[in-house]
Amino acid sequence: MELRKDPITRSWVVTHDGSERPPKDEQPCPFCPNSPNATQVVGSVPPVDGGPWSAAAMVHPDPLFRIEGDPGRGGNGLYDVMRPVGAHEILVENPSHTRQLWDASDAAITQFLKLVAQRIQDLKRDQRFKFITVSKDQGSVAGQEFDHPTSQITATTFVPRRVLYELRACREYFEQKERCVFCDILSQEERQAVRMIETRGDYVACCPYAPRVPYETWILPRHHEAAFEREALRHQDLSDLASLLRRTLRRICSIADAFHMVLHTAPNVGRTPEVLGYWRTIEDDYHWHIEILPVLPGKRKSYRFKETYHSDVTPETAAARLRAAPAE
Ligand SMILES: [Zn+2]
Ligand SMILES: [Zn+2]
Ligand SMILES: [Zn+2]
Repeated sequence: MELRKDPITRSWVVTHDGSERPPKDEQPCPFCPNSPNATQVVGSVPPVDGGPWSAAAMVHPDPLFRIEGDPGRGGNGLYDVMRPVGAHEILVENPSHTRQLWDASDAAITQFLKLVAQRIQDLKRDQRFKFITVSKDQGSVAGQEFDHPTSQITATTFVPRRVLYELRACREYFEQKERCVFCDILSQEERQAVRMIETRGDYVACCPYAPRVPYETWILPRHHEAAFEREALRHQDLSDLASLLRRTLRRICSIADAFHMVLHTAPNVGRTPEVLGYWRTIEDDYHWHIEILPVLPGKRKSYRFKETYHSDVTPETAAARLRAAPAE
């Protein structure tokens, strides 16, 4: 397995030959508590309704990135290559094999959010890792890998391309205006109130002005904070965020069976932010958020939509429908 960089788009690509993933066998679920074929548990949070834990992080049974070794950054003529060093873990959302995140209690969702924050903070201690991504694929058309309700976390030695665009755009906006673009978006959205879905305490769910897919939804804090994990570990009470996440996912599920969800938090600038000069203003220019991208049934995408996003539902209509959708 190798990580190669496209010199034109500057995206990193994991490439390898062969080994199709083995078909799902009849083995017991590795993520249920006390499973006979559990993988290594690397972190957990205390139970809220009995059992050994409320949420747990386990090593991915077939990881894309491996924790050992040095990235071995190298060149091959004009090309850049490195080893796929990183972390790839499964975040088990709750002990129940059938309880989806949006059916869990706010206390259980809070514990899951605490686990996410702990794993990000722990992986950021490793100076090799530049970026930590937490994502969830729900539904087979969205690439769901396991039956047990889970999310995944990866730590990589590079910043994925789309996130890098986002980070650069935030930095450039800050350079020009000395303001955070997400804070500015929020204040305009709250004022216009046409793409808002719900406000819960200090957290907001809304549809972005220019969505990539119909019903794209963001969840973000109303106060400025670059790093999700710092916020989640500082506050004992995450119930507003937990209930907003639960309610928003319920609304999304009434419209789509499948979705991608990703958490964007500040990159790992580590102890040497001056070396990575362009991340000097990260604390002021970046604002953590969750992006939810529904996958609607029967929407096969032609090639041109890979280059130009197309949404046949305006975000104003999407927000109105999501506001009207059942959240309980
Ligand atoms: Zn299970
Ligand atoms: Zn902000
Ligand atoms: Zn983002």
